Amino acid sequence: MSPSVSHDRIQRVRGRMDELGVDALLLSLGADMPWLTGYRAMALERLTLLVVARHGDAVLLVPELEAPRVPDPGGAFTVRPWSESEDPFELTAGLVAAGGAASPGSKLAVSDRAWAGALLALQQRLPRSRWVASSSVTSALRAVKDEVEIAVLRAAARAADRVAAALQGGAIGLVGRTEKEVSTDIGTHLVAEGHDRVNFAIVGSGPNGASPHHEPGARRIGTGDVVVCDFGGELAIDGGTGYCSDITRTVVTGEPDPEVRDCYAVLLAAQQTGVAAARAGVPAQDVDAATRAVIVDAGLGERFIHRTGHGIGIEEHEDPYLVAGNEALLEVGHAFSVEPGIYLPGRFGMRLEDIVVVGSDGPEALNTVDRSLVVVEA
Ligand code: ZN
Ligand code: ZN
Ligand code: ZN
Repeated sequence: MSPSVSHDRIQRVRGRMDELGVDALLLSLGADMPWLTGYRAMALERLTLLVVARHGDAVLLVPELEAPRVPDPGGAFTVRPWSESEDPFELTAGLVAAGGAASPGSKLAVSDRAWAGALLALQQRLPRSRWVASSSVTSALRAVKDEVEIAVLRAAARAADRVAAALQGGAIGLVGRTEKEVSTDIGTHLVAEGHDRVNFAIVGSGPNGASPHHEPGARRIGTGDVVVCDFGGELAIDGGTGYCSDITRTVVTGEPDPEVRDCYAVLLAAQQTGVAAARAGVPAQDVDAATRAVIVDAGLGERFIHRTGHGIGIEEHEDPYLVAGNEALLEVGHAFSVEPGIYLPGRFGMRLEDIVVVGSDGPEALNTVDRSLVVVEA
C-alpha cells in the first residue's frame, strides 16, 4: 500500500473519531490494521498494536523480531519496535497518554478481533477509559471500496470463476469421489488460479447440501446428486493487501428431476432479482426483501434460512450485511455477496452466489461464470 493511501485512510478515520468522540483507536488483529497500514499482525501472543490518537501521532508498536516485515510507512505512521524486555502494554498506555487520550472517561476503540487477553491487559493499564469496538469507527469507511480495492476483488472473483468453470466443465471430478476429496481439489485449484490462501471450500452433496455450512466429509458423490460448492480464498496483487473471493455454484451429476429444475429456476430468478436491486441509495434490507420475495412467492420461503448476503473485502464477512433490519443505505463502492439458497432437509440444497459491487451506473457482478444448473458428467 502506498504511504499516501495509508495517510489518507488514517485521516478519514480521524474524521470519524471526531464525529464519534473517540480519543484513540487501538488496532491489533483483524482487518482494520492492514486496511490502514498494509501490515497484518501475526496472530501470536506478542502484542502488535497500531495506536491512532485523534489529535496525536499514529504509532505501530510491533515486536522487534517482526519489525522487518512492516512495509515502509513513508511518514504515514511511525514504527516503534519493542524488545523482549519491554512491556508493550505499558508502552501503549504511554502512547495513549502522549496522544492526550488517557484522561478519565476518554473513549478508546479497540479491534473487534483483539484477543480478550490483550484487551484485559490494556484495561488494567488504562482503567478509567470507556471502551468501544473499532468497527464503530472503521467499518462504514472500510465498506466503501476504492478503485484499487475493487480491482483486487475483481481479480479474486475472476480467479474463483476459473475454478467454478473447472468444476462445471468436469475438470474437478465429482462422481465417485468424497466431498472431502473434491473440497481439497477445489482448494488446489484456488491456489493454482492465483489465490494466496484458501479460506474454505464447502462441498455439500445430496442431502448434505441442505446444510448451508456443511463440513465436507466422507460421503461419496453419486450420479444424479445435487452438489452445492461454495468456496473462496484470499488474493493479493503485487504483494499488496489480500482481498477475498467467495462464490457458490450448484451442479448436478446427471439429468436433474423436474423438482430440482423448478427449484433452481426460482433460485436463479431470486438471485438475479437481488443483484438488480443492489443500487446506491437502496436500504441493504431491501435487497434481502427483493431476493426473498421471489422464493416466498414460489412457496419456498421457509426453505431460505439465512440472510441474502454479506459485505466482503479484506475479511470474508464484513459490512454491509443484506439482512432484514439493516436500514443502512447502499453506497457506490459497497461490495457484497448476493447468495440466496433453497434447502430441503433430508433431500438436497442449492445456493447461487456472486460478489456484487455497487457502481454509479448500477450493480456489477464480479463473478460472471455460468449461473445455470450445469450437469457435470464427471
Ligand atoms: Zn456462508
Ligand atoms: Zn460463499
Ligand atoms: Zn458468501
